[in-house]
Amino acid sequence: QVPLKPGRSLMDWIRLTKSGKDLTGLKGRLIEVTEDELAKHNKKEDCWICLRGFVYNVTPYMEYHPGGEDELMKAAGTDGTDLFDQVHRWVNYESMLKECLVGRMAVKPIMAPKGECHSPAVWCHEASATESLTDLVSFLTVNVCVFCACVCLLYSYDWFQTDSSITVVLYTKQKDMNEELVIVDCQDKRLRAEIIVDDHSYLVEVDLNHAVQEDLTVTIVERVRKVEIVLKKKENIHWKALGQPLESHNTFIRRTDRGLFYRKCKLVSKTEVTHDTKLFSFMLPKSTHLRVPTGHHVYLKQIVAGTEVVKPYTPVLPCLPLDFKEPPCHAGAQIHFMIKIYSCGLFTQALDHLQIGDSISLSSPEGNFKKSQIGSSEDLFLLAAGTGFTPMVKLLNLALTEVSCLRTVKLIFFNKTEGDILWRKQLEQLALKDERLELQLVLSQPAKDWVGKQGKISAPLLSEFVKRSRKDSKVLICICGPAPFTDQGVQYLKDLGYSQEEIHAFTA
Ligand code: FAD
Ligand code: NAP
Repeated sequence: QVPLKPGRSLMDWIRLTKSGKDLTGLKGRLIEVTEDELAKHNKKEDCWICLRGFVYNVTPYMEYHPGGEDELMKAAGTDGTDLFDQVHRWVNYESMLKECLVGRMAVKPIMAPKGECHSPAVWCHEASATESLTDLVSFLTVNVCVFCACVCLLYSYDWFQTDSSITVVLYTKQKDMNEELVIVDCQDKRLRAEIIVDDHSYLVEVDLNHAVQEDLTVTIVERVRKVEIVLKKKENIHWKALGQPLESHNTFIRRTDRGLFYRKCKLVSKTEVTHDTKLFSFMLPKSTHLRVPTGHHVYLKQIVAGTEVVKPYTPVLPCLPLDFKEPPCHAGAQIHFMIKIYSCGLFTQALDHLQIGDSISLSSPEGNFKKSQIGSSEDLFLLAAGTGFTPMVKLLNLALTEVSCLRTVKLIFFNKTEGDILWRKQLEQLALKDERLELQLVLSQPAKDWVGKQGKISAPLLSEFVKRSRKDSKVLICICGPAPFTDQGVQYLKDLGYSQEEIHAFTA
């Protein structure tokens, strides 16, 4: 992020888009844009960018872009879809830039060959290479499809019925199937069941033939690596078919090539954690089966001043007991967030105004932290600044309850003042109960009577606190906070001799 000029916040942008001003220079007309035409608009004062086949005039948005004008200019006059996906695929640009829409690209992107198994986004990505690469593209595409076809053989589904129920069975060949790898939603007769396989996923998505009741059950039969989803029929009639396949039905593709899927969740409680941070608990719909893995985040989406706004948040546990076990993902499970309300924050202000019973859209989880990273650690160091503490909550629980070889866990928690320290009492109690846990609080703006550590993240501070308990002990260092804090911390750790594999930085 770069510092934005005053009057260039997201709220200011939303106001401008609602002002009725002609932001495209085309007086509301939509045009077909050729590649040659697109390429001509490659200057700051005349900048068009193509995103997923639609062309936007982003010149008016330049000064409002949180990543800065230079980042936006990288895609000037070209198809910026890949670049966009790399940086913030979750941002709802359709809604944010709708007043900047110039039109569609004249030539449609080449589509993936239709079939039971296809990988459209991989195909489109490869097809955007220059014409001289066409042969290579076809070669890659064929091979990607062969790969997908092979993998699809490993994943399939079936269904059967009784008088009162429909059972959909997903067959996998995946070892260690667990609740976190299965996401099921059934909304308005639309059944969506996703099995996560590393950075890919297998999806069954159908428009059901008849209505079903709201609650569903999901059972993972580990022994035979299958997942059973039981839906209750609304009427006891015989179904001739399960339903109509939807676009991504029966596909195995990269997860990043699927759009984010949202479900509506109800706010059930809101409690104070500190003067500016609250614990929000949302109820998942009865028709959703979802568990957010440790170290992963979700996106929350709400309409603010008539525009959809999306922000990432990391779920926490409702509290920090020693022997906490996450309850099974039964119908109506809750999901908890610790969120700081910024006095001029666009999203958090709107969130704070939600009433109990109000709904918010919540995406499926994302993230690249793997449980296996922590599995064999002997020393775990958690460096958190402010709400960068949130991923550490589940990590602490996982480490202290499931990692048998763990000798030490040190949480080094950076805050401005004492009043900003999240769950301080709970952390101190946990450290008293479990002698492996050590808590190191560091304040950057302490009151005069603070006797603890003072300062900011620095190489000397890290060399004092981050030390292996034995010369050759296996270490994992996790770091999360404001982006510059995380970047600096990673650099200091590397300078101190820790390897890339020993460091995990939480980012979007
Ligand atoms: P914004 O409107 O974005 O502004 C917040 C404050 O920063 C304001 O004071 C604003 O003036 C200032 N600001 C913002 N952008 C700029 C800029 N470019 N230049 C100058 N000033 C600026 N937060 C939590 O509280 N809990 C979590 O669990 C959590 N998890 C996260 C997980 C991930 C992966 C990431 C990337 C972030 C997470 N965050 C979390 C942060 C969260 O996504 C939002 O950024 C945060 O809630 C602020 O949103 P907002 O719209 O209210 O604030
Ligand atoms: P904050 O209260 O502003 O800061 C917490 C501590 O970090 C303070 O001591 C502060 O010192 C210090 N700090 C701030 N910026 C720094 C910098 N550039 N270099 C060194 N130290 C710095 O923090 P916050 O408002 O809670 O913000 C938390 C951040 O964590 C947000 O940016 C959020 O997006 C991020 N976050 C990320 C994830 C994720 O990626 N998974 C999850 C949760 C939160 P000062 O006194 O100097 O300000």
